Amino acid sequence: MSGKVYICGAGPGDPKLMTVRAMELLKSCDVVLYDRLVGQAIIDQIPENTEKVYVGRAVGDPTTHQKRTNELMVSYAKKGKSVLRLKGGDPFIFGRGAEEAEYLLKHDIGFEIIPGITSAIASPAYAGIPLTHRRYSSSVAIVTGHEGAEKEESPLSVNWKKLPGAVDTIVVLMGIGQIEQIAGDLMKAGLKGSTKFAIVESGTTAKQRVVTGNLANIVKVTGKSQIKPPAIIIIGKVASLHKKLEWFSSVKNAKPG
Ligand code: SAH
Repeated sequence: MSGKVYICGAGPGDPKLMTVRAMELLKSCDVVLYDRLVGQAIIDQIPENTEKVYVGRAVGDPTTHQKRTNELMVSYAKKGKSVLRLKGGDPFIFGRGAEEAEYLLKHDIGFEIIPGITSAIASPAYAGIPLTHRRYSSSVAIVTGHEGAEKEESPLSVNWKKLPGAVDTIVVLMGIGQIEQIAGDLMKAGLKGSTKFAIVESGTTAKQRVVTGNLANIVKVTGKSQIKPPAIIIIGKVASLHKKLEWFSSVKNAKPG
């Protein structure tokens, strides 16, 4: 009989933000297939006898990498193994979790989906930024800033023109490389240059950094602070709450890791 595949979120980085279910599976599955964004502190907790396979994306080669991951899930499951497919954040937020589930379905392999805490909400929270707030934001959109590489596979694209009028808070994942264009498009669509933003780099980890500014100076600020992925951009009034509600740096400095 085939084994099952558990498509599971590992949370945003802080190992304590893994769910109880994810930890249980980490300890009990026969094989763990894990991504680049799953933190080392989590990998270190995989039992010695469990087979660990890194299936992180080789830069510039998303197609081959996804094909290999799909094939590995099926071949381990067909050997009767229980497979933990562990992904950064939540598997259904820009995580291709659904595509993997579709592949498993096609190959008659049973699966479960275990949600994780997505970086889209956890990184802002660790920076003291609420995505909604009764005074500043009653709506939020989570969008990708990196459609180019996926273009041949997906006909969809973010409607940057309509976003400013439609939502109060915009959260951009995978947007650092395209930040100039994103800010430009949003300003062309009506957002003022004075609109606040915050960027959270390596959110929820000991390496977390936060920079803030406004859309008019976003390119200068990010260039100067040399922000690197993984990082998330939060645009809207709530970004200014960072200065008031920031709490993580004191915890992080008191207890490294
Ligand atoms: N499924 C993941 C997202 C995968 S897309 C989730 O739910 O979190 C990868 C993008 O997620 C990165 O480019 C970055 O924008 C964001 N990201 C992931 N981990 C992050 C972290 N610890 N801090 C900031 N951004 C992060």
